[in-house]
Amino acid sequence: MDTTQEQQFNEIKHNLATVKQRIVDTCQRIGRDPASVRLLPVTKTVPAEKLRLAYAAGCHEMGENKIQEAREKSEALNDLDIKWAVIGHLQTNKAKYLARFANEFQALDSLKVAAELDKRLQNEGRAIDVYVQVNSSGEESKFGLPPEAVRDFVKELPNYSSLRIKGLMTLAIFSSDHDRVRECFIKMREIQAMLRQEAPSGLSFDELSMGMSGDYELAIEEGATVVRVGQAIFGKRPLPDSHYWPGLG
Ligand SMILES: *Cc1c(COP(=O)(O)O)cnc(C)c1O
Repeated sequence: MDTTQEQQFNEIKHNLATVKQRIVDTCQRIGRDPASVRLLPVTKTVPAEKLRLAYAAGCHEMGENKIQEAREKSEALNDLDIKWAVIGHLQTNKAKYLARFANEFQALDSLKVAAELDKRLQNEGRAIDVYVQVNSSGEESKFGLPPEAVRDFVKELPNYSSLRIKGLMTLAIFSSDHDRVRECFIKMREIQAMLRQEAPSGLSFDELSMGMSGDYELAIEEGATVVRVGQAIFGKRPLPDSHYWPGLG
């Protein structure tokens, strides 16, 4: 490692430790087992070479929003044992790429995508963990199913045997008003409770993927089992979020 790399490595390691400690602190404050919360580092816009340092610092799972970027990085880093999670919207015609390298897909919100992804996974002889994305904020810029559509949607999912349904994912409203953010997370917990009663057997809704750099502690308070954290680990992103969530900016 040269000096710049060493600096980057130390920074990632430090940030990672800080986030993990805050997860532990939050859990202890509310009486949850810290082991019940998984930290998924989100690596979008972070170059592959920096991700080698992140891997060395302990990130062995990486979340990417865009399939093309995820695919390029998974190829550039295929000598490392990284588990890739795709956490952004997927177009049907890109399902074949995801089926080749991803361990997890957290943004399922259409049966067309479910069918195509299942078919491609069958071809590859693979199965992956899948989360159903819900639009808990009602904002038009967000992907995901409207809450009231989730019940009927999941009834169709047993048809796709290569999709191991594990839970729900959401992006809360972007707001500095904690109450409004919290409402999104509470809504998710309610949907989860409903699905645990009513979902077809074979599907599991134990996982709740919610909370990012700005709101992961709130999300943990409301039941998150996966938090997706990028900027608090890797620093501020150069691209605005509207690049990832069209219609936002
Ligand atoms: C970028 C992104 C995150 C992480 O956001 P940060 O602000 O970097 O923590 C989480 N979830 C999704 C779907 C994302 O695209």
